[in-house]
Amino acid sequence: MKKPIIFLVDDDPSVLKSVARDVKSAYRKEYRIMSTQSAVEGLEYLKELKTKGETVALFLSDQRMPEMLGVEFLEKAKEFYPEAKRILLTAYSDTEAAIKAINEVQLDYYLLKPWNPPEEKLYPVLNDQLDEWNSNYIPDFDGIKIVGYQWSPKSHEIKDFLAGNLVPYQWLDFETSEKGQELIELNNISSKDLPAVFFEDGSYLTNPETKDVGAKSGMSVEAKQKMYDVAVVGAGPAGLAAGVYGGSEGLNTLLIEKRAPGGQAGTSSRIENYLGFPNGLSGADLSRRAITQATRFGIEFLSPQEVKSIEIKDHYKILTLKDGAVVNAKAIIITSGVDYRKHPAKRIDEFTGAGIYYGAATTEANACQDQDIYIVGGGNSAGQAAMYLSKFAKNVYIVIRKPDLSSSMSQYLIDQIGGTSNIHVLGNTEITEVSGEEKLQKVKLKNNQTENEERKDAAALFIFIGAKPMTDWLDIEVIKDKRGFLETGPALIRY
Ligand SMILES: Cc1cc2nc3c(=O)[nH]c(=O)nc-3n(C[C@H](O)[C@H](O)[C@H](O)COP(=O)(O)OP(=O)(O)OC[C@H]3O[C@@H](n4cnc5c(N)ncnc54)[C@H](O)[C@@H]3O)c2cc1C
Repeated sequence: MKKPIIFLVDDDPSVLKSVARDVKSAYRKEYRIMSTQSAVEGLEYLKELKTKGETVALFLSDQRMPEMLGVEFLEKAKEFYPEAKRILLTAYSDTEAAIKAINEVQLDYYLLKPWNPPEEKLYPVLNDQLDEWNSNYIPDFDGIKIVGYQWSPKSHEIKDFLAGNLVPYQWLDFETSEKGQELIELNNISSKDLPAVFFEDGSYLTNPETKDVGAKSGMSVEAKQKMYDVAVVGAGPAGLAAGVYGGSEGLNTLLIEKRAPGGQAGTSSRIENYLGFPNGLSGADLSRRAITQATRFGIEFLSPQEVKSIEIKDHYKILTLKDGAVVNAKAIIITSGVDYRKHPAKRIDEFTGAGIYYGAATTEANACQDQDIYIVGGGNSAGQAAMYLSKFAKNVYIVIRKPDLSSSMSQYLIDQIGGTSNIHVLGNTEITEVSGEEKLQKVKLKNNQTENEERKDAAALFIFIGAKPMTDWLDIEVIKDKRGFLETGPALIRY
């Protein structure tokens, strides 16, 4: 965690040096001491510090300075850090002005120069002020901050991307978070350019592409070599396992993932049937463990990066990546998994990312607090999502075309759902239309036996209706079945 700052301003270099020396000797363990001779420069620093998410605990400023009076500086500093303690350093002759300022602009204290010995004249005052400041201090989040509109598809995409890549972030809803609004105003960002992503070094990107957010967060999208023993396309559980075994066998292995490690499993809130985890584990935890294991064996991992095509020349396979880069491999393992099938209800595309999500239960769970939400699908992934979301939502409705879950969901999940009072299974039901203004607000339910239709309020809709293979991009001669799955093993004998 970053240390809070004690900020010193005095135009006289010798006074500044000695006050900094005394403050450092007593407080440097718990605070970072920053000092400047220029009040104007000081205000510039404050803007930068605020953007970087740093916290100032206390300002100590000289009163008589050529650029502006200390009182004026402290007033301006308050705009950046309203909670920080503000102390004025004055000469004896300025005492009256200092007292007046304390009353007028509510400074916390004034100190007279010289402050020797500091143990008697300086530290007791600073201790008192810092104790008070600390009693109200809630440390700021250190990592990436995203400021945007809750129902913006782009905001959802970035949150989902960072969560999938195991990068911690803080979400600040522009409409409700004062801190978010402050960051946007401070950097003169127009609300039409949201979402904005702020990084630890104080820089930010507005309305960014996920690949740019990935690059700034330290993810690697460029292969280090031109030739690999084996390239693995897709880092779901299958690709991660291939990566681990490639690496452990000493093969020079490249693992390429277009979104986030873990694939579908990475989006699961709780996987209970994975070997070796008797209490179950989240998809994020599984991905974190697998990627650590694979990289420990020395594999190279590119994410977010997509393989666009494969070409075979002599004994080599040439992979072309989304950004045009080319890598060669002696062997390729394709573990590109599947992608969600689109739900056919009317207007579904309009609200995708704005209340309607394919999978992605975990990143938007907080927004479901005390609301009625819907899940479509009767498989295990839908069941896991229902269990997870039931901790946030008022009611979770599972919509399925079949009469009940018995033919499509594991019994352990059916039992858990049966024992959760705010989950309701709507059998023989379909969603035929969705509606809303800027975000999803209602779903139209149709009973496929009675043909009855009704509209219901819905804060969110999570879709888990099966998937199609992600193999369209693959145009080399490999054998696919009629649904697009790559044939492997004994199935190849048929051809
Ligand atoms: C919400 C949910 C919960 C689940 N829960 C369970 C459970 O509890 N137990 C269980 O056994 N199974 C569960 N499953 C199923 C399980 O997750 C899948 O069977 C498993 O993820 C399949 O792994 P895979 O590696 O084959 O493919 P995927 O997981 O689909 O991964 C494929 C990866 O390849 C990437 N990719 C695709 N094309 C490219 C390309 N051209 N370039 C680069 N990368 C590419 C994709 O982005 C993706 O990350 C669940 C699935 C979901 C969606």
